[in-house]
Amino acid sequence: MSLLIAKNIQKNYGDLKVLDGIDFQLEKAKISAIVGPSGAGKSTLLHILGTLDQADNGELIFDNKDISKLNGSRLSNFRNNAIGFIFQFHNLLPEFTAEENILIPAYISKRDQKESQIRAQELMKILSIDNRAEHKPGQLSGGEQQRVAVARALMNNPSIVFADEPSGNLDSKNAEELHSLFLKLRDEFGQAFVIVTHNKDLAAISDERHEMRDGKLDKLN
Ligand code: ADP
Ligand code: ADP
Repeated sequence: MSLLIAKNIQKNYGDLKVLDGIDFQLEKAKISAIVGPSGAGKSTLLHILGTLDQADNGELIFDNKDISKLNGSRLSNFRNNAIGFIFQFHNLLPEFTAEENILIPAYISKRDQKESQIRAQELMKILSIDNRAEHKPGQLSGGEQQRVAVARALMNNPSIVFADEPSGNLDSKNAEELHSLFLKLRDEFGQAFVIVTHNKDLAAISDERHEMRDGKLDKLN
């Protein structure tokens, strides 16, 4: 059974038809890459699939549940618990430590504090940043900052992690490490990812590739 099914997603900005009837499916423990030229609508699609933005038309089915019509606090509850996001620029809060940043989603969802701390510490171990818990983002390397952002995305144990150019701001060594982590999270924890990327290596190690072009999404081999 698919974790996510999107049907006939349409989005216009004024006269600009950005998404022209997109169908998309994602299974558990799969990494799906979305590639395509700049301005093709990849981020727009990612934001709609991840419920950060709303389509003009179309259906979104998550775990067998139609979420297309959710809004307000029901939508934000759903998003906080089912979805993780990773951005090109990590978007960490500079005044908070790595561990505090990782705990933000649990705090927003009012999860048990003690259990959340245990989870945060487990995630930091898995991501090899457990020796950086008390550091602020400015004291961390680019690769470490991005791994803190990955831990934050995983904090509430989301069914799907959406990532927009996650290695776009990393040098090739850190990018490779991040890509290996995605594979590890897929293989050991069954994590599913939808990743917008220009990185050829990341597209190559993904389970499937889609190309966005002229408002349409095509599956590549
Ligand atoms: P990509 O991620 O493939 O680079 P985007 O999804 O960011 O493409 O953008 C697709 C098109 O939609 C671009 O022409 C962009 O300028 C336009 N666009 C994106 N967001 C908005 C918005 N909020 N308002 C108006 N136009 C937008
Ligand atoms: P990316 O290059 O990572 O795809 P962009 O820089 O295109 O992202 O977009 C960053 C943000 O600005 C997005 O939230 C998008 O919705 C918004 N945006 C992009 N293009 C436009 C536009 N032409 N008008 C208004 N907002 C836009």
